[in-house]
Amino acid sequence: MNPEIYLDANATSPVLPAAASAAMAAMADGFGNPSSSHAAGLRARALRESVRACARRVLGAPEGRLTFNSGATEGIQTAVLSALVAVREARADGQPCGDLVLIGATEHKAVPESLAHWNRLLGTGLELRTLPVDADGRHRLDVLRELAPRAAFVCTMAANNETGVVSDLDGIAQVLRESASPALWMVDCVQALGKLPLNLSASRIDYAPFSGHKLYAPKGIGMLYVRTKTPFTPLMCGGGQEGGQRSGTENMAGIAALGAVLDALERGDTFRTHAALLACRARLVAALQESFPGVVFNAPLEHALPTTINFSVPGLSSADVLEVFDAAGLRVSAGSACSAAKAAPSHVLDAMGVPDWRGASAVRMSFGPLVEDAVIDQACARIAACARALALPLLQPLPLAVDDAGLVQLEHEGTSGWLLFDPASRTCIAIDPPTALAERTAAMLNAGGYRLLAALSTAQGGAGTLALCAHARQGIAGWPDGGIEARLEDGRHLPALALGQDVLVREGDKYLFGRLRDGVLALRFVFDGAATPVVTPRVAAPAHSEADMELDASAVARWLAAHPEALVVDVRCARECAAGPLELHGRIALNVPLARVTEHASHWLVADTRPLLFVCRSGARSARAARTLRSLGHPRAWSLAGGFALA
Ligand code: PLP
Repeated sequence: MNPEIYLDANATSPVLPAAASAAMAAMADGFGNPSSSHAAGLRARALRESVRACARRVLGAPEGRLTFNSGATEGIQTAVLSALVAVREARADGQPCGDLVLIGATEHKAVPESLAHWNRLLGTGLELRTLPVDADGRHRLDVLRELAPRAAFVCTMAANNETGVVSDLDGIAQVLRESASPALWMVDCVQALGKLPLNLSASRIDYAPFSGHKLYAPKGIGMLYVRTKTPFTPLMCGGGQEGGQRSGTENMAGIAALGAVLDALERGDTFRTHAALLACRARLVAALQESFPGVVFNAPLEHALPTTINFSVPGLSSADVLEVFDAAGLRVSAGSACSAAKAAPSHVLDAMGVPDWRGASAVRMSFGPLVEDAVIDQACARIAACARALALPLLQPLPLAVDDAGLVQLEHEGTSGWLLFDPASRTCIAIDPPTALAERTAAMLNAGGYRLLAALSTAQGGAGTLALCAHARQGIAGWPDGGIEARLEDGRHLPALALGQDVLVREGDKYLFGRLRDGVLALRFVFDGAATPVVTPRVAAPAHSEADMELDASAVARWLAAHPEALVVDVRCARECAAGPLELHGRIALNVPLARVTEHASHWLVADTRPLLFVCRSGARSARAARTLRSLGHPRAWSLAGGFALA
């Protein structure tokens, strides 16, 4: 497996060795509570204050509040609470203040979510209005100019986490000044620290939250800057730590680690310069352009952080790219880490008016200012290797092919269709193709030069046949005229279609597939609309529980030693396998993509009955493969729980 190249720094970064050492020291000798008045406490307090002093110098904030907290979500929360409480109090006093909160359309979800929460809880009744961005992802200053006089609170970010787009903070400040807006202004500075110059006290910014883990400090430590005389309401009350502004015993290990990072920033001898980072990005951009000639960048590079690239490749979804990059050991993401588990399109790209296909294909590559040239070299080489893997045809015969025809499962949200294909004649037949996959299936056929003979439906399916023919611009939806006849074992003669050397026989709204031997159908699959076709010869399935099928990562080495004859099957797609073949405790895995497992089932049920261990990246696909084999009667099909990422 490929060693990891981490290009997801906007999600989080590794910890600077000096920061880890500082945290260890703070937990060992320097474990004192900074509120204690004895020597151990005094030492902790001195450390905390020296980090604060350094932060003030680095952020250009000699004045105003600078409190340590758990991170930007807390800082945003505190700023929102402070601003909304101030609005409520001003209203109660009969003072004029705006009725709008303007929220940058591309803000991190922490901002609109906190605003909605506190606006409701405090009963402030402010109208939360989105401040749109233009196609470059920058705030629409014309809209701001129009609304600024009514704004009570304006929330914008210094740089966007998904696209790296750097906001025109000077432009925003000027509009607020010119329109004599009374608005308080929060600028989420999370992605700016260490990448953009900051001079907070000299700016008009009222609140600026930071998170340490975006710049080589650990998770769980952050800072909030609040301008002098700007309203402030503590989010947490208790022991009065941080001058009563943020109660709770301080995270001294985090503060010490953040101090080491800030120290490095101030010394200027640790992180790469802006020019060096730009050069690194230019090389990645060139590698992407060379490897994927149609690549489109979703934010103008001249307005983006030098450490972030957001791109889309026509014809490849974000998931396609991510899977193959991950197999090659390149850790990138489709957008923000918080939304990685959701399949929702990016609100950031939507706000920029990026076409849907680019949103569905978007990939974010981000690195930190510690990046080394050698890592960029390796990343460029792997991008090229990934492009080669992604260009592989999907309809290929596999090493264990039974007869000639292949069977691909077309699975979408629990519904399944099937594609029977014959590589020799380049012909294929689709059964119950899901509508949602019609475009992708058509692209797969056309890329492989396949001729679609028919798109058929069983009693259960059918909706996608027309869509597939329309997208593929070929094939007939429904049983075509002029087929042949096939004889079944029971003597019946039924209409059939030839697919290479095999035949598909129509029996009412069921389809039987196999080869004619001595003029009689030797059956391989029966498609009757069930989730898995009937695979013949049939084997009686022994009873099993789901738990019997899962092997824990900690148990796998022992299991492999106890089953030297077992076959390890990598069920990732062929492209992932090409980008990073899989080896498990010295065993080379055989690649049979999940979509092709049914095709191979009879081989494993009858011809080669060794125990099977299915493996994939996260454990989801391998669990399904094991379940399919067990349901078809295989007594010894296993799956590696959690995937090889844990093994
Ligand atoms: N703001 C931006 C721009 C971010 O990128 C993030 C994290 O991804 C946050 C806020 C929230 O930071 P945290 O999760 O560290 O509280």
